[in-house]
Amino acid sequence: MEENRQLPLSLRALDRLSWNFWWSWSAEGPGVFRDLDPEIWEQYEQNPRLLLAKTSEYRLAQMATDPVYVERVGRLGAEFDLYMEVKTRWPRSGASRVTPEHPVAYFCAEYGVHNSLPLYSGGLGILAGDHLKSASDLGLPLVAVGLLYRFGYFRQRLRRDGWQEEYYGETQTSDLPITLIKNQDGLPLLIELTIRERPVRAQIWQAQVGRIPLYLLDTNIEANDETDRWVTGHLYGGDRETRIVQEMLLGIGGIRLLRQLNIQPHVFHLNEGHSAFLTLELARELVQSGSLAFSEAAKVVRQRCVFTTHTPVAAGNDEFEPQLVQRSFGAAYPREVGLDMEEFIALGRSDPDDTAEAFGLTPLAIRMCRSTNGVSRKHGEVSRALWQKLWPGKTVDEVPITHVTNGVHAPTWAAPLIRALYEKYVGTNWSESLCDRKRWEEGIGKILDEELWVAHQLLKERLIAFIRHRSFQARLRRSESMEYTESARSMFDPAALTIGFARRAAGYKRWNLLLTDPNRLLRLMNNEGRPVQFVFAGKAHPQDQQSKYILQQLARWRYDPLVRNRAVFLEDYDQEIARQLVQSVDVWLNVPRRPLEASGTSGEKVAINGGLNLSILDGWWLEGYDGKNGFAIGDQSDPAEGVDVDAADAESLYRVLEQVVIPGYYERDAQGIPRRWIAMMKHSIQTLAPEFNSDRMVAEYAERIYS
Ligand SMILES: *Cc1c(COP(=O)(O)O)cnc(C)c1O
Repeated sequence: MEENRQLPLSLRALDRLSWNFWWSWSAEGPGVFRDLDPEIWEQYEQNPRLLLAKTSEYRLAQMATDPVYVERVGRLGAEFDLYMEVKTRWPRSGASRVTPEHPVAYFCAEYGVHNSLPLYSGGLGILAGDHLKSASDLGLPLVAVGLLYRFGYFRQRLRRDGWQEEYYGETQTSDLPITLIKNQDGLPLLIELTIRERPVRAQIWQAQVGRIPLYLLDTNIEANDETDRWVTGHLYGGDRETRIVQEMLLGIGGIRLLRQLNIQPHVFHLNEGHSAFLTLELARELVQSGSLAFSEAAKVVRQRCVFTTHTPVAAGNDEFEPQLVQRSFGAAYPREVGLDMEEFIALGRSDPDDTAEAFGLTPLAIRMCRSTNGVSRKHGEVSRALWQKLWPGKTVDEVPITHVTNGVHAPTWAAPLIRALYEKYVGTNWSESLCDRKRWEEGIGKILDEELWVAHQLLKERLIAFIRHRSFQARLRRSESMEYTESARSMFDPAALTIGFARRAAGYKRWNLLLTDPNRLLRLMNNEGRPVQFVFAGKAHPQDQQSKYILQQLARWRYDPLVRNRAVFLEDYDQEIARQLVQSVDVWLNVPRRPLEASGTSGEKVAINGGLNLSILDGWWLEGYDGKNGFAIGDQSDPAEGVDVDAADAESLYRVLEQVVIPGYYERDAQGIPRRWIAMMKHSIQTLAPEFNSDRMVAEYAERIYS
């Protein structure tokens, strides 16, 4: 790419804007960049740096002399400067000890800030991205630490027979809005640690998410052994050994990076256990610098660290064989922490004396943090039962694990058309009063039915255009028949009830539940006058053959003449596909096996756009559902002995669809407007938007967990 291309004077603000992801959640940012050159914008994954490099000189000159466009650029630049100028708005009420001098240090293995920064796999990363954006909007001092994966997470395409294939794209750092941190001599600043008895060095990149710096460690440098250059190769790629060395880099390297940058955090937030080794590094510092024994050091560390767990099953927690821990850390590190190898390994065991147990990052994190929380009320409960064994004397209810329910970043997920309605009815500063229930109640109550319905309908038409475009391209690539490829141009019907289902293809998410009775489903889909259409997307873990098989079944369905026009699988689920879906579907379906959905956030994104949730009462929906703001599948009681839960939930799903959802959607007045449905959309926004947003979540962390 051409380095530092000089933009025409009137467009120069675009350069500044392209270096901070703030543009991606500003009202006008995405449109301003897209309009510079819509084709290049899509071709390069909506990456402003590449857009500015690839747009032709002639096009730049045209736009630089278009007064309307120049005006928009100027306005966006001014808005950005204003946003960045406002110094910290935190604390809102005195007592907090989180300050710009002593910020929160937030650690996560993945970050889903925008689809042009491919450092995420799914929910955890998107949540982390939303956390940073809300911290920025709220003015909460926070710095984030992660890894720069050269190949990111795997990308998905389906073969003609429907089988999932994986491939990787290589990320060029020069294409991204990230800057390499240098030392006084102008050379890359390096941190160093010992992994597998070898010195490993990492350079540090900085991305800017509004006011929040995101530091990313990168071992792909010549000074490293060839193997060690791959430590930051793939996100959740490789084997157990790759995983542990990545986690050593994140935890130990992350602390060393903060020290190098002279950042002194008030609190360290371990978002999931991947970064738990940071607690050992903090203990090591204390043991090395003074005369503290490990047990004393651990007390100090505990005061500084808080932990969020995201996994409701024991098997989902990261664990390592003791030999692997020993090999990766070497003999010296435990000694520097003030422990022998046995004591060191015991830190990761639920029962320190059980030498058969593996080394788990969750027990380590719980032990070394003063606070542990789950990500919904139910998940808090589940976590207390799951980890009770760490508090032998306590009953489940006494286990000190709390919860902070996940939320989503409204300006990132709300469609521009919906934002415009919020500006008009909730107020131009709607995104600064996200938690003001009363304002939402009143504002949304004033929206005209027709206005909301037209906006939603337009978004659905956009979704269908997107589906047709993506399907056409995918069919071309697979060399499908002419007739079948062409038919993509007319698939789907903007008037039909459209149900979205997109998530990881993992067992407990029960992708096959909907297909329990295919004939019953086909009858619903093809009901003359009241048709239903489905949009699916999601990746299966490369080693999860069973989930890949279920995806294949679904994908092969596309050739069935009864289904062709009414169901589609969009390949390579990512943030862009998620945005298209959550902003436009009528209904969002979620059918996890209870109580395994820790929170789930995609349904919250749908709610912010006026879509309705149709979901099992688990995770966030158990808190959000009030009987009138969407639909519940099954109930919240514990299943009776011997009941086939999957069969019962499938029956409930079909019945709710047949008796409530479909009749409700097609109930129209003389003007063809579904009044009662629209009332439900409004009630859903009123009750869910002010609660399940990430401003509420981050404020709750700041007030209850960080301080
Ligand atoms: C929001 C989101 C998720 C998480 O949604 P769940 O409800 O937890 O499945 C996963 N992937 C992408 C791309 C998302 O945007």
